[in-house]
Amino acid sequence: MKFITQKYVIPDVAMESFIDENEIWDFINNTESTIEDVQKVIAKSLSKQRLNLSEVAILVNATDIDSVEAIKEGARTLKKNVYGNRIVLFAPLYIGNECQNNCSYCGFRTSNKNAVRKTLNDQEIISEIEALEENGQKRLVLVYGEHKNYSPEYIAGTVKLAYSVKKGNGEIRRVNINAAPMEIEGFKTVKDAGIGTFQIFQETYHPDAYKKYHLGGKKANFENRLTALDRAQEAGLDDVGIGVLFGLYDWRYEVLALVRHTNHLEACYNVGPHSISFPRIKESSSLDLDTRYFVSDEDFTKLIAILRLAVPYTGMILTAREPAALRNEIIQYGVSQIDGGTKIELGSYSNILNNTQNLNKEQFKVNDERSLSEIVNELLETEMIPSFCTACYRVGRTGEHFMEFSVPGFIKKFCTPNAILTLVEYLIDYADEETSEKGWKVIQKNIDQIDNEKLKKSLIERIERVKKGERDLNY
Ligand code: SAM
Ligand code: SF4
Repeated sequence: MKFITQKYVIPDVAMESFIDENEIWDFINNTESTIEDVQKVIAKSLSKQRLNLSEVAILVNATDIDSVEAIKEGARTLKKNVYGNRIVLFAPLYIGNECQNNCSYCGFRTSNKNAVRKTLNDQEIISEIEALEENGQKRLVLVYGEHKNYSPEYIAGTVKLAYSVKKGNGEIRRVNINAAPMEIEGFKTVKDAGIGTFQIFQETYHPDAYKKYHLGGKKANFENRLTALDRAQEAGLDDVGIGVLFGLYDWRYEVLALVRHTNHLEACYNVGPHSISFPRIKESSSLDLDTRYFVSDEDFTKLIAILRLAVPYTGMILTAREPAALRNEIIQYGVSQIDGGTKIELGSYSNILNNTQNLNKEQFKVNDERSLSEIVNELLETEMIPSFCTACYRVGRTGEHFMEFSVPGFIKKFCTPNAILTLVEYLIDYADEETSEKGWKVIQKNIDQIDNEKLKKSLIERIERVKKGERDLNY
């Protein structure tokens, strides 16, 4: 799985900082960017080679219309050629918003006296998961504030509970988590509970900006957060997600830093991050920020295309923080996962009468309020395959994005048939008539494109078995 194209010095102690702000700024300030340079870099990425920091600097410095269009077109081509037309769907489930930290952008910060605090009890977690399953969800990310009550043992218990809930044909097949950094023992505890990805966003990789916005609690320690995923790796948890909260510092710096973090994980552990997230700051009930670094839609679209080209074998997650129209547009530049039917107020999936957002009960404002069913319908309209696939994780094939990218035929053999089988389940169990009709057309079209006759026959047989009531048939 070793995939290092860039010379990179492994720190003596993996736990020490691997971010050098001067080095990153040197790359940005001393790299010129002509359209020819941009085209060369894009060609390298399309030939399936990872970009180094000076190449990424060429892309972030490109500002003329032709270069930016070339970057977007390159990312679109890469997504189409490598990953095809699948989009994996998931939902976030907030378990508790107690928090001892004081992050100036977040509605849950300890100094926000207007925040309505709540931690779901077991019965409430079960009700939420039943409601999510009744919508057709199969993949969740459980989210927690940072609080002494949310110990690794507590988190592991909620993960196990999530897996145990079965409503009708519903079940949760993959639970990722987004929680505070742990020590090595803690990471082992949550790994043993069967989590998928452990996501920790650095928020900003710039130490001074970090200090300015993280005003109290354990999260105020930049290094402790930066090295958290090293501790996860030491604990044997190699499925990790990184991210930046865009708007805290210069987005060009953050993009290079995400690539540096990726290099670091690859160099030290032979495995890059499973996913990269790029939340942008949204309204919250306690936002106290300098808006200087807020990122425009244009720059946001461009930076996502750049990340796709820079790290072509990693999952990219775009959440419902962003409005529907922008999500629909950006998906084409390389996004592999989106959330659908998202509600982030604690307890709101099972409370169907509550359809208004109350920022005192939420971390931030959700700007895409479409239901899962509306999103599936719209994806099918554009002939994408909404996928609930969890096969690789469940049969122990780790690093699936890397394999999708690097193993010839992997997508045709595994990903497309599995995406189709999970879509078939969704259409039979949860879809309305219109969505179902569109879905079967997309499925037929994709089956027709399978050139391996043996696989085609086997897939058609499995679809018939799903129609007769079997579930979770995967390759
Ligand atoms: N409390 C844990 C932590 O801070 O690591 C879990 C993560 S928090 C519940 C999920 C993520 O939401 C944060 O890492 C941050 O990037 C993002 N976030 C916080 N406030 C936000 C806001 N106002 N707008 C958009 N995203 C926000
Ligand atoms: Fe707490 Fe996380 Fe919000 Fe910071 S971002 S205040 S740690 S919930």
